[in-house]
Amino acid sequence: MRILIANDDGYLAPGIAALVEAMRGLGEIDVIAPEQNASGTSNALTLNRPLSVFTAASGARVINGTPSDCVHVALTGLLPQRPDLVLSGINNGANMGDDTLYSGTVAAAMEGYLFGIPAIAFSQVDKGWAHLDAAARVARSVVERVLAEPPADGPWLLNVNIPNRPDADTLPRLVTRLGRRHASEPVIQQTNPRGEPIYWIGPAGDAREAGKGTDFHATASGCVSITPLQVDLTDHATLPSWRQRLEGGL
Ligand code: MN
Repeated sequence: MRILIANDDGYLAPGIAALVEAMRGLGEIDVIAPEQNASGTSNALTLNRPLSVFTAASGARVINGTPSDCVHVALTGLLPQRPDLVLSGINNGANMGDDTLYSGTVAAAMEGYLFGIPAIAFSQVDKGWAHLDAAARVARSVVERVLAEPPADGPWLLNVNIPNRPDADTLPRLVTRLGRRHASEPVIQQTNPRGEPIYWIGPAGDAREAGKGTDFHATASGCVSITPLQVDLTDHATLPSWRQRLEGGL
């Protein structure tokens, strides 16, 4: 069993250290993580410059790129053997609903999934790393459960969000669908020292679709949320009507 662990908060983040520690004994672990915090970089690959790698004191391989770069480089040449599982996290903050489109944490796991390897992304719901040890126990337990009874047809991709509670590992686990968020808060405009306007991207919007069955609802109800993800963005439901509207007539 070989496990590749990445994240988007950077190789020094407490979350990845906790995840690595939690997986001890499950197999051979390779850690390949971004040098800088790369939260919100989604599935970006660095194509306009080369990537360099160094080995940190912890043994982690560190890449000056994105989370997807890390997993991509790992799987296409850096690792001598293909891992059996890709894990990402534990992220500093939730990745629920629309977050999953922007998340580097989810993207690192998704990169493994795109290469045909089962993958799991782990996030704590609140920022600040409170009760990270309990979240790490949840991660260990979820991995053990999945490995004990893996889906027959792989690969698969799970997105796990864990409430920041000391008893996180005793909370019920719900398999959920993604909710939706409201549009982001407005951009924050400031003035730089040269008198020019600068803009900070505003915070993510609050949950909009957060009904029963969603990741937002599960975590708000004191449960660990586990959402199986897929990558196909096709709007299958509207295919027929778009065909009618746009095909033919030439
Ligand atoms: Mn992050």
